[in-house]
Amino acid sequence: MPDEEMLTIQEVVLNTSVGEIISRAGVRVNCDVCGEEIMNEREVKHEEFTLCRACASSAYYQVPILLVAFSEGNA
Ligand SMILES: [Zn+2]
Repeated sequence: MPDEEMLTIQEVVLNTSVGEIISRAGVRVNCDVCGEEIMNEREVKHEEFTLCRACASSAYYQVPILLVAFSEGNA
């Protein structure tokens, strides 16, 4: 398939700075809930826990329950 059929190019305006998006290359941590690797400082700190954005935002009221289950499984 030719590139022009498979790809679309569109100029956009960034909502955050390029510096925020790139962050510091090579910085990696793991989410305390799902274990997902989080790159370039995209983690969210919730009390003493490190969360990926999916766990932090979609689980606003569920995080403590998930953390209890996660902690018991690894105790
Ligand atoms: Zn997570």
